[in-house]
Amino acid sequence: MRRKLAAGNWKMNGTPAELAQLNALITAHPTPNVDVLICPPSTLVAQAADIFAAFPLAIGGQDCHTAKSGAHTGDISADMLAAAGATYVLTGHSERRTDHGETDAVIASKSTAAYDANLTAIICIGETLDEREGGTTLDVLDAQLAGSIPDTATAANTVVAYEPVWAIGTGKVPTLDQIAEVHAHIRARLTARFTDGDGFRILYGGSVKGSNAADIFAVVDVDGALVGGASLTAADFSPIITAL
Ligand code: 13P
Repeated sequence: MRRKLAAGNWKMNGTPAELAQLNALITAHPTPNVDVLICPPSTLVAQAADIFAAFPLAIGGQDCHTAKSGAHTGDISADMLAAAGATYVLTGHSERRTDHGETDAVIASKSTAAYDANLTAIICIGETLDEREGGTTLDVLDAQLAGSIPDTATAANTVVAYEPVWAIGTGKVPTLDQIAEVHAHIRARLTARFTDGDGFRILYGGSVKGSNAADIFAVVDVDGALVGGASLTAADFSPIITAL
């Protein structure tokens, strides 16, 4: 049985003051029967991990370098995230792919760095609007799955997040049939490649909010959500956790 995961990606948002309101999440979900994760900006990872160490709220990074350490100004390693108290890291988010030109090979290498640091990698994939409209969605996802997920991935060290690029921050959400088609396809690819492929959690991400979460979570093979805007406040994120 796959345990559900509600993951929040704060992207380039968040100050120490804004961490404090997450206490309301703990109050609302003192013993959640799903995993709850917040990925704040790297400036807040250590502080967040300290504040919530005793509570059922995991902390993750939003990206890591492929190397353990070295001359990479402005970057952060998986080991550094782990030492700061993170237990997860996002890899291959479409904003990293677009803003920083990250290739599938780089994302696989970052995911391996995450495993080496005992972090769970949430490996993100998703098609653009042009690809969706051009009918190549499943081909694009196949290439990303094959190229971004290392051979050493397991259900324990890897979560796959399906985030259609056109649904991120737009308020547009695929139909439930479209989500079902993609998640079933990803599941088939995972089970064909990995002996424990049925155990990998597959998250949906892109304009998830309290009002659409329950419908999305009812789709087969949707094991949770990767949430951007609606994870920034406890008030918005809490109903999504409840819907799982
Ligand atoms: P939104 O929930 O703001 O659409 O962002 C989704 C996302 O990119 C999470 O990683």
